[in-house]
Amino acid sequence: MKIQSFFMTAFAGLTLLACESKSNQSGKTTEVAEEKTYKEAIVDLTHEFSDETIYWVNAKEFELDEVAKGQTDKGYFYSANNFATAEHGGTHIDAPIHFAEKGQAVDQIPLEKLIGSAIKIDVSTRALKDRDYLISVEDFQEWEEREGLEIPEGSIVLLETGYSRFYPDKIKYLGTEERGDDAIQYLHFPGLSPEAAEWLVNNRKINAIGIDTPSIDYGQSEYFKSHVILMTQDIPAFENLTNLDKIPVRDFQIIALPMKIKGGSGGPLRIVAIVKN
Ligand SMILES: [Zn+2]
Repeated sequence: MKIQSFFMTAFAGLTLLACESKSNQSGKTTEVAEEKTYKEAIVDLTHEFSDETIYWVNAKEFELDEVAKGQTDKGYFYSANNFATAEHGGTHIDAPIHFAEKGQAVDQIPLEKLIGSAIKIDVSTRALKDRDYLISVEDFQEWEEREGLEIPEGSIVLLETGYSRFYPDKIKYLGTEERGDDAIQYLHFPGLSPEAAEWLVNNRKINAIGIDTPSIDYGQSEYFKSHVILMTQDIPAFENLTNLDKIPVRDFQIIALPMKIKGGSGGPLRIVAIVKN
């Protein structure tokens, strides 16, 4: 292990040196920077937090209290707020410990799982016709056949159901605008089938998963089996994503950095895709 980590450090050092010598050649620095600006686009996959943010029907909703906003008597402008929120609401992460006793808490998830190359499986044609749609093994296999490759090892896998177009309309997005434990029975939105979750963890090696609905399990789930299957393998899930229609099916990067709540079962997430044009 020691030898391996030595080589990894040495390799990282070489990479850094290579970059440095490149930018030291006069004139090259701006050229490289411009090239990057024109050839990559950053797509925000995050809903904003506000009093419209969608939460699980029995979770505390987002609150923003203004502390100060205006000119001070010393002549400068000053604004500040307090906010309060449940961990699981709006665009957020489920840390493995959310459904696995020995799973990682949000502050323990390695950054390598949250930043890296990603793929997208678009099931929106099917899911928009059936709000209880369960994403199946066939949906994954069809993607692999179409692309001519297996889901690459270490991928972040994003599932596009098309439901973010309804956000923040609670009836269309969640299935109900009622709140409280009794409202759970009225939840209707697509999710990942437990069979497909099982297939993923047994046959492919992914780093994280994400979906543009309130939960990785569908609205009518009673036992949250897909959560349990994924999180027992320390695979975190991103929920309530948006703008998945603006990213390609592969060859893009994800940066997904949640609030680092010590011991947290999840938390608010800012997630972006870096897409090559
Ligand atoms: Zn959650």
